[in-house]
Amino acid sequence: MTVVLGIESTAHTFGVGIVSDEPPYVLADSRRQYVPEKGGILPREVAHFFSRVAGEVVSEALREAGLKIGDVDAIAVALGPGMGPALRVGATVARALALHFKKPLVPVNHAVAHIEVARFTTGLEDPVALYVAGGNTTVVSYEAGRYRVFGETEDIALGNLLDTFAREVGIAPPYVVGGMHAVDKCAEEGEFLEEALPYIVKGQDVSFSGLLTAALRLHRKGYRLSDICYTLREIAFSMVVEVTERCLAHTGKRQVTLTGGVAANRVLNRKMEIMARLHGAVYKPVDVRYSGDNGVMIAVTGLAAFKRGVTIDPRRAFIRQRWRIDEVDLPWYPWIPGR
Ligand code: AMP
Ligand code: MG
Repeated sequence: MTVVLGIESTAHTFGVGIVSDEPPYVLADSRRQYVPEKGGILPREVAHFFSRVAGEVVSEALREAGLKIGDVDAIAVALGPGMGPALRVGATVARALALHFKKPLVPVNHAVAHIEVARFTTGLEDPVALYVAGGNTTVVSYEAGRYRVFGETEDIALGNLLDTFAREVGIAPPYVVGGMHAVDKCAEEGEFLEEALPYIVKGQDVSFSGLLTAALRLHRKGYRLSDICYTLREIAFSMVVEVTERCLAHTGKRQVTLTGGVAANRVLNRKMEIMARLHGAVYKPVDVRYSGDNGVMIAVTGLAAFKRGVTIDPRRAFIRQRWRIDEVDLPWYPWIPGR
């Protein structure tokens, strides 16, 4: 049996997951999320919060798994992409654990990990994946050794669009209550606006910043907020589903998944399901417990990588703030724990 401890610290969550290659696979999932009192996330404040909680999150995960650090075969860490100060905390903790306890260190790309945890929880072997989160909007699928990008945002991410709009019009934070985003809650009584907001798909890429600006302008002009929320959501979701659909048609794959924080969204799931059905493809979203950032996804990916000999010298394990998903070789593909 191989056991890997994974550390996540790319954005708002400091997470530690422990995963093995035998049932029940997930041995521990411990996390703390940084929630700013108002406004967006300030990297320095997140880093401060992470360094305060890191020790207790690691201990809590080991306790939950009933293991000592000595029982772990390798330490995996998300080295990017993400915010520098936040990434540095996870990387420092991981390097220290690896060096002190003489454990191999496994570098993990956070975006790859969102896809791998979707494959892990859905059992889909080779899907087209729509990855939508606070800082990412990407359509990828495996081709010739790597996840290839079949479309992405040219500016802000889908989660950021929803969060920023909600914050600016005063319906958040909190952004998500009971699994429902503030924009969804507000859209419940809404209707599609005639003054259509801009739907911007350029080739395979999407752009959300013009949509955000236009929606905020309608709000200032006094349009009904529920109508703006409804229209904003319908347009933004349709844009990403369109790009995913074209990737599915192009690759001829038979499976589709949805992952990242926004994968918890019911309306987006419904659109994805309908689109997949039209193509005769199987649709399964990531298990919602692992849609947002967490340590388990880093451990799952770290385990797959470690079993194929992917490790890094702790003294060379530098963070990579702009580490793209298509720069990562996947020698383990399509293997994932559970198969
Ligand atoms: P991540 O960066 O992967 O942790 O995802 C965080 C993002 O997911 C934030 O932008 C959240 O607002 C968003 N999110 C979480 N739950 C939902 C939901 N039910 N609907 C839409 N967005 C969500
Ligand atoms: Mg994420």
